[in-house]
Amino acid sequence: EPAGDAATPDLSAAGPEGRAARTALALREATAAGGWALLDHPMLALEVAGSPAYLEPDAVVVHPDGRWTVVEIKSFPMIDASADASKVGAAARQAAVYVLALERVAAVTEGAEVGHQVLLVCPKDFSNLPTASVVDVRKQRAVTRRQLTRLTRIEDIAAELPEGTTFDPACAPDELDAAVAAVPPAYAPECLAACELAFHCRAKSRAEGAVEALGRSVRGELGGLTTVA
Ligand code: SF4
Repeated sequence: EPAGDAATPDLSAAGPEGRAARTALALREATAAGGWALLDHPMLALEVAGSPAYLEPDAVVVHPDGRWTVVEIKSFPMIDASADASKVGAAARQAAVYVLALERVAAVTEGAEVGHQVLLVCPKDFSNLPTASVVDVRKQRAVTRRQLTRLTRIEDIAAELPEGTTFDPACAPDELDAAVAAVPPAYAPECLAACELAFHCRAKSRAEGAVEALGRSVRGELGGLTTVA
């Protein structure tokens, strides 16, 4: 289709909530208009453990027939039309979360349907030209959906904490220390690359002799054994 025919709605708004509302409105308008539309960095909301999480896909395309497609742009190369399988897998899992978030908006939009195939855009071979491939994320979507329904709700975790616990950075260090210590860690070595509390949780897990500190695969091999000793 000629690129000039696609609408590119302005999605700017204040704060993630405002941007998510603006995105939902743009999706509804584009679907009702029945043409092509490209939403550049829309904002989506998804409930995770009973609390809203805001997500920003690279783009979402609205088709004239009301279908919505997630577009994910990555920097790893597609060499001879194939890319590193683990990186494609990670991109598919990420896109599946966007699909789930989009489905919430589609459920209240007449004539809308979210495609379970996403468009993965990567550099072609060793150049800086883009190329794209369609990736089916039905499996990743089903797995993520199941995992989301099994997550412990934040209210339930909070209910276990002592009365008055707060994580306000403005409170005294020993108060904060006690608050953080009251939450049981679920440490795994992957935390080191992703979480600022990694050293704290690692020390706590090691002190308890938790097998999780050795990695998820070791944890899996050990079955019912929960401590290193
Ligand atoms: S390091 Fe972060 S992600 Fe890992 S268990 Fe601790 S708080 Fe959770």
